[in-house]
Amino acid sequence: MEHMSVIHKTTCRICKGPDLVKILALGDHPPVDNFLSEKDIAREKRYPLDVFFCRACNLVQLLDVVSPEELFHGDYAYFSSASEPLVRHFEQYASDLRQRFLSDGDLVVDIGSNDGVLLQFLKDYQVLGIEPSENVARAAREKGIETLVAFFNSSLADTIIASHGKAKVITANNVFAHIDDIDEIIRGVRILLADDGVYAFEAHYLLDLIQKKEFDTVYHEHLCYYSVKPLIELFRRFEMDIFDVERQETHGGSIRVYAGKKGAHSIEPSVQTLLQLEKDAGLHDEQTFAGFQKEVESIRAKLLEVVREARTEGKKVIGYGAPAKGNTLLNYCGFTADDIAYITDTTPHKIGLLTPGSHIPVVSPDILKTETPTLILLLAWNYKDYILEKEADVRKRGARFIIPIPRVEIV
Ligand SMILES: [Zn+2]
Repeated sequence: MEHMSVIHKTTCRICKGPDLVKILALGDHPPVDNFLSEKDIAREKRYPLDVFFCRACNLVQLLDVVSPEELFHGDYAYFSSASEPLVRHFEQYASDLRQRFLSDGDLVVDIGSNDGVLLQFLKDYQVLGIEPSENVARAAREKGIETLVAFFNSSLADTIIASHGKAKVITANNVFAHIDDIDEIIRGVRILLADDGVYAFEAHYLLDLIQKKEFDTVYHEHLCYYSVKPLIELFRRFEMDIFDVERQETHGGSIRVYAGKKGAHSIEPSVQTLLQLEKDAGLHDEQTFAGFQKEVESIRAKLLEVVREARTEGKKVIGYGAPAKGNTLLNYCGFTADDIAYITDTTPHKIGLLTPGSHIPVVSPDILKTETPTLILLLAWNYKDYILEKEADVRKRGARFIIPIPRVEIV
């Protein structure tokens, strides 16, 4: 039955072509969100984590698609509002949408709305969240945000039109890269969107991933690693234009893409600017990726050296933050609880469980009020400045942080 949980595609998710080349191999990994208890360890499964480049449209993607049932069994542990910097980001995002596109009475639909982290700032319009995870949707409803527990597709788009009318703004943040059948999402967006409407989404940006060596952002949920070029191709097929793109700092570097029906919005210079930037960085050229595997291997070698040397000297090493990407890093390095004694995280659903694959206990950060480890591996490195400031106290007591990305540093 095991083979039923993973499908290996042989064609590109955007252009459907077969000319795909492997650019990064990270080994076999369990799904990064499946935090588990001791009794579930024997049943844990691992799947290949290999990244491919399409020579035709240049989309960078995974071809091994693990079934959603495997990726999200049990309680899906990710609540966006648990991260303060992320909440501030969405507050600004909501303000941008309000100023550029929204008028009184407009409908805003958020696909993958999580706990309402974006829509809570737009409640003076009509808002509708779509969230597949029941317990996450419940948190949104408690904030007074109407939320459907569903996966978005074209038939749901028809249902929403019948009950709410067409949407002026549709958003999909950090979910658009997670969906295998992106055609079906865009088909649904096109149906639900008003003629002058805007589809805005944020996704991790391939340019940041490559330039800042953010290999740990590769995991089974992230099926696509977007750059602007293949996205233009994707929307063109559905008679839509990308009319603006902004770089964002979230998740180590993201893009916010604005798309609309063909001809509905004038195309901003940002689209051409980013295309040129990508071309200059070699993102449309397979050769650029040839050195990436080696760079990733050298980060692993350095991390292993630092952590194992400290352990040999009997020093305590812990981890800080248990984000999804942390599990790619831990499992790629082969770390276990012998290397990293525990990992602190503020997410209540993760505390008391073990990290997938590496089986390291997750505990509340309160432990750092009394304990002083020698080294703290910062897995949530995208919040480096925020965390170093927040943890000034334990640093004063002598603990030092290991920053793994983009190069291993001890601060
Ligand atoms: Zn392609």
